[in-house]
This record gives sequence, structure tokens and C-alpha cells, in this order.
Amino acid sequence: QRIGYALVGLGHLTLNQILPAFGACKKSKVVALVSGSPEKMQKVAAQYGVRIESCYSYADYDKLRDNKEVQAIYIVLPNGMHAEYTIRGAQAGKHILCEKPMANSAQECQLMIDACQKAGRKLMIAYRIQYEPHHRIVREMIQKEQFGKVKSIMANNGQNSDNPDHWRFKKALAGGGSLPDVGLYCLNTIRYLLGEEPTEVVGYVHSTPNDPRFKEIEEQVNWLMKFPSGVQTSCATSYGHHDDKNYKVLADTGWIKMDPAFPYTGLQLETSQAQGKENQVIQHKIGDQDQFAAEMDHFSECILENKRPFTPGEEGLQDQKIMEAIYQSAWEGRPIKLAGVDKKDAFR
Ligand code: NAD
Repeated sequence: QRIGYALVGLGHLTLNQILPAFGACKKSKVVALVSGSPEKMQKVAAQYGVRIESCYSYADYDKLRDNKEVQAIYIVLPNGMHAEYTIRGAQAGKHILCEKPMANSAQECQLMIDACQKAGRKLMIAYRIQYEPHHRIVREMIQKEQFGKVKSIMANNGQNSDNPDHWRFKKALAGGGSLPDVGLYCLNTIRYLLGEEPTEVVGYVHSTPNDPRFKEIEEQVNWLMKFPSGVQTSCATSYGHHDDKNYKVLADTGWIKMDPAFPYTGLQLETSQAQGKENQVIQHKIGDQDQFAAEMDHFSECILENKRPFTPGEEGLQDQKIMEAIYQSAWEGRPIKLAGVDKKDAFR
């Protein structure tokens, strides 16, 4: 049995990753499309076997309510539109899979959670990394203390983004700059790997003066996080430097390195372990798995078996609260305590 999805937004991610991923899905199928571009939608519908009656404009979005083939809606719109389309989708009686970042503010995230709860529908945030085998292995290594206790993690996710006319450079549609877009991977992955929540953050934000890309949103954020176990982490994200997407976990008797860590394919995992006076370095060979197929099938399974998604709305809200504290730290020039952040166990 496969869950039927409506895809909302036919941009880069939908066309190049999500639609092809249905081919690798076992429990999910695409049955409807929502787009502002009828011509593009017709082509895509023909290519993926979606019925023309199941193609909707944004104005007709609420009519998804009457389409019994659609059980779930996957929202792949600019960040600033996630809240509205999640809330309306839940009100139309559908389960919601929403792209990251969940929304532009913690307040919006809470409204999305409340709307799905009220409608009795499931809400999952599309954190593909948490459904991917390389990262799962690292999480197990850490949780089994394969290299002893973790002391510190460094994570970077940055790229040189151009095209200042794109929505990613507009505050209202993007919410922020590099932090909510790509820096979020460092934050969310570290929380996933450690299974605990930061209690304090320090952040710095910088944008190159007069660079037309950074009139509304920030270029670069560097931040530190402190965790209850004593782990300290250091992260960097930017829209202004050459691609760099990796992390390194430093533990008592070894280290774990993933480089690259955050692309769709080609992840490389390496570990080093003390062997007497020598270091044994191992390159782990793990095949690629389609991250979007894994994520969609997980959500489908949760719907079919009435289970709570591994990355529910609360997971997106948590990241949003932490990102807001990072910005606050940068603006106020002081560390920010995160007393208000829920414990991960509270929603897992
Ligand atoms: P995109 O610009 O390629 O696509 C956005 C789509 O939204 C386009 O089809 C556009 O026409 C449509 N749209 C509707 N109303 C719009 C408006 N008012 N302004 C601009 N566009 C509008 O973006 P994308 O890269 O596909 O990103 C979409 C979402 O997916 C974002 O939330 C992004 O953060 C997320 N994303 C996630 C990953 C991941 O790996 N999980 C990767 C890329 C993007």
C-alpha cells in the first residue's frame, strides 16, 4: 500500500530530487501537483503519470480536500510560505511533510503544530539527514561510545550563492540567510548525533558591506553551542565562500569525520582510532541511499501505522528556537541560555 502525495511547488528541489526519488520509494507515490506554472505542471504530470484533474493552481490549493487519492502534502515552497500552506493543508484534512527550515519564526512553527494537532493530522519536517545511513552509523558510534566520550564537534555548511534576485535573498520569503538555509544542517545534525539539546549558544553574524546579495539577509554565521554532557560544538555557515560541507567529531580515543556530509550523494565517512601509539584510519564504504525516498517512506509508514514521525514539527520548532537564540546572541553581543528549549526526549 502506498500513500498518495501532493507536491506543492515545482522548483529545483521538487524537479531534481523529490520527483525522481518516488522511483525508489516502496510506500509513497506522487498523485497530485500544485504549481503557479500550468505549462510546467502539465509536462511534469505527463512525465510522472499524474492525472490532469489532480493538477492545481495555488488559488485552488484548498480543493485538495476533495481529492481522496491525496493523503499527504509535501510542501516545497519558499520558507516564508511553509506556515500558511501547512496550516491550510491540515485544515483540508491532509498529513503534512514540510521542507526545512520549518518556518520563519518559532511562533509560526507553533501555529503549524497546533493546526495539525487540531486537525488530527501528522506533521513531519523533511530533515533528510536523519534518514540517511552514514549519519545513522555515526550516531550509533557516538551513542555506543565507540571512541569513548565525545568532547567536541566542528561542523561547516557553506557555499557561494549568487543571484540576489532569488527568494533566498529576500527576508520575508527566506526568514534569514545562510543560517536557516544551510547552517541549519550543522545544528540539526549535531542535535541528532548527540541526542541532547544545547543549553547555551554564542553567535557572530557578518555580511560583506555593500555586497548586493546581503541587503536583507546575512552572509555568514559562526556559532558555539554548549551541551549538558560537556560537549562543545563550533559551527560555521556562509553564502560567501567556496563549497564546504562537513563535520568532525573529536572523542577520547578517536575521531569521526564526514566530508562531504550534507550533499544528496557521495558522503564520505572516515574514522581514526588510537591503536597503541599508532592511529588506525578507516574509510567506511557505505552505499548511497536516496535520502528523499527514505524520508518520504518513513512518513508514509507513520501514516499507515499511525506512528509519530522521527522528525515531527517539534523538531523544527526546536531548531527555530535555537537559531533565534544564535541571532539574539550576535545582536546583543552575549551568550544566550536556552532554558526554554524542550528536552529531545519530550517529543521523541
Ligand atoms: P526553488 O526556488 O527552486 O523553488 C521554489 C518553488 O516555489 C518554485 O517552483 C516557485 O515557483 C514556487 N513559488 C511559489 N510562490 C513563490 C513566491 N512567492 N516566490 C518565489 N517562489 C515561489 O527553491 P527550492 O530550492 O526548490 O527550495 C524549496 C524549499 O525546499 C525551501 O524551503 C528550501 O529550504 C527547501 N530545500 C530543501 C533541501 C533539502 O535538501 N532538504 C534542498 C533544497 C531546498
